[in-house]
Amino acid sequence: MEKNVIEDIYGINVFNDDRMREYLPKKTYIALKDTIENGEELSPEVANVVAHAMKEWALSMGATHYTHWFQPMTGSTAEKHDSFLSAESDSRAVLEFSGKELIKGEPDASSFPSGGLRATFEARGYTAWDCTSPAFLRKDAIGTVLCIPTAFCSYTGEALDKKTPLLRSMEAISKQATRVLHLFGDTDVTKVGVSVGAEQEYFLIDREEYLKRDDLIFTGRTLFGSMPPKGQELDDHYYGMIRERQAAFMKELNEELWSLGILAKTQHNEVAPGQHEMAPIYSSANTATDHNQLVMEIMKKVARRHGLECILSEKPFDGVNGSGKHDNWSLVTDTGKNLLSPGKHPYDNKKFLLFLAAVIAAVDNYAPLLRLSAACPGNDHRLGGDEAPPAIISVFLGEQLEDIVEQILRKGTASHANTGENMDIGVQTIPTIKKDATDRNRTSPFAFTGNKFEFRMVGSSMSIAGPNTVLNATVAEELSAMADILETADDFDTAVDTLIHDTLKKHRRIIFNGDGYSEEWITEAENRGLPHIHTMVEATDYFLDDQFIMMYEHQGVYSRAELESRAEINYEAYAKAINIEARTMVKMATKQYIPAVIRYVTSLADSINKIREACPEADTGVQKEMLIRCSGLLSDAKEAVKKLREADENGMKIEPGREQAIYFRDHVLPVMTALRDPIDELENMVDKKIWPVPAYGDMLFEV
Ligand code: ADP
Ligand code: MG
Repeated sequence: MEKNVIEDIYGINVFNDDRMREYLPKKTYIALKDTIENGEELSPEVANVVAHAMKEWALSMGATHYTHWFQPMTGSTAEKHDSFLSAESDSRAVLEFSGKELIKGEPDASSFPSGGLRATFEARGYTAWDCTSPAFLRKDAIGTVLCIPTAFCSYTGEALDKKTPLLRSMEAISKQATRVLHLFGDTDVTKVGVSVGAEQEYFLIDREEYLKRDDLIFTGRTLFGSMPPKGQELDDHYYGMIRERQAAFMKELNEELWSLGILAKTQHNEVAPGQHEMAPIYSSANTATDHNQLVMEIMKKVARRHGLECILSEKPFDGVNGSGKHDNWSLVTDTGKNLLSPGKHPYDNKKFLLFLAAVIAAVDNYAPLLRLSAACPGNDHRLGGDEAPPAIISVFLGEQLEDIVEQILRKGTASHANTGENMDIGVQTIPTIKKDATDRNRTSPFAFTGNKFEFRMVGSSMSIAGPNTVLNATVAEELSAMADILETADDFDTAVDTLIHDTLKKHRRIIFNGDGYSEEWITEAENRGLPHIHTMVEATDYFLDDQFIMMYEHQGVYSRAELESRAEINYEAYAKAINIEARTMVKMATKQYIPAVIRYVTSLADSINKIREACPEADTGVQKEMLIRCSGLLSDAKEAVKKLREADENGMKIEPGREQAIYFRDHVLPVMTALRDPIDELENMVDKKIWPVPAYGDMLFEV
């Protein structure tokens, strides 16, 4: 029988377990597995053999180059290609790849942000092989390149990337969770892993339209434009065409992802026109993070092959639903147990309740850090709108767990659980379906969804390394405090009950099952003392909070210097992003909008004159009114351009850092709005034929 296409291509471009078995001598395979699974040190001999095998495999697949693939603090990925060619022979090509080259690389690090961790005269940064994430082949115009996932650190060992802290946090939570499990008698557990599945939202628009808009090209979002009044509903005529092109894109995207061992599972259209989502099957946090970076890259690449542009920024179109990333997170033991699975009797599942309590405590104690992990300039425009989670962190547990928590708070322990009821759809022929014990709550930023938590604040363009590092580190911290208590308890069972009760009581304020979009919740959250952090700038301040620094140092996830550097990078990135937006707006207004509007008002004036000449008694009231309104808006726009240019220039005179970021937030952003408003109003008045850039309708419906 013919093999299914998925089976045919799944993982063909990955140096996965099958390839390792095939290409490595048994002894080397066992040694490498020991490093991957148990963190045993890798000897240079083993590295040499692995490097040789990887090279042989890569060459057989047509590779010419290799690269250390890493994730600098920009949130994207970086690489420097080296060919396998060695200079040793001048008569024929000798292709080499040594263990040393596999394990360590030295890219010119000075061009990546280090936030002061590495003075520019000391440009040394090293990439180190992360053997827990498999090497893969990337094929594009350059040819085929062997990509080796690596961590990136400075000469003195500080993390210059997003992967290193993530790996450290995975070790931290594994250690603390194992401690707790051993106390429960699960001594066969030696490791606890973190499972992550990242759902990715994105927009697809026509690439030709995209190329006509500087704002999309330079900033990833539209800085002008608005939804036509009747916008959101889909035009049937175009619907069919959209489906064809998108379907071709999705098919190719899936195949590319499968070939890289990325389990693209579901795909569907999202709420907004032109918006879609792709969800992979979950995997280890580290691979899931690598994979999500690849997903974003490949989406962009494949879209272009179809004459489309994939837009990943959080709020590309004002007034249209934005894009996020749902980070599904759970803990799983090396014996295969999901620690967040409530089981048949959640009320009596003390282990589950204790881990649940630890997560709740972590989210409450470190809410600002979670908010910070989802902070980027684009996401500031999305969070708090009526479509994305609010900027206030809370935990949704669902009816069943909420009831168990109530019982525990009332009586110390819980004695029963509400189970899902049967759902009556009212159609005889449709089988009765059992309702889930929890309904979905779409408005919660942090929701329990059956056997995992789902962090929904993350922006669509962001790396998921940060959010998962925070989750792992903070839950590890709570678990370690719990283990400290339980290890010295006289009576373990009573101590566990007390700990669950006390933790839930202390952190009850973070639990909220209601409507996160409502005005009442904002007031209520304030009364509960929950932080409401509006912008990336405020969020960034928490990198420098002593209490949080202590927690990170305690868990060995970040050093103080590493956190300070990340704060610096964030402030700078924020100011830079707004600076680029401001300059793009000035340019578009000056070169495109204002000249077009001048042409339009001139033609209005001409027509008034002509009508008057031809027929003095004709009424030109409407034209005059429009002329007056348009001229007024034109001068508003002109004035705003001047102010924006000044504000931006003043901002750039300030030294990069917190003060500059605040300046851009408080003095540049508002002027950007002051420029956008008149132009958007003009867009709705001026003849469409004269308008210099595609409108929302052109981009979102006519794909
Ligand atoms: P939704 O209800 O949001 O559609 P799904 O069940 O489709 O949820 O899963 C969404 C994402 O969560 C997928 O990427 C899936 O692989 C992931 N996921 C499912 N179970 C777990 C788990 N135990 N841990 C982490 N991620 C998970
Ligand atoms: Mg989801």
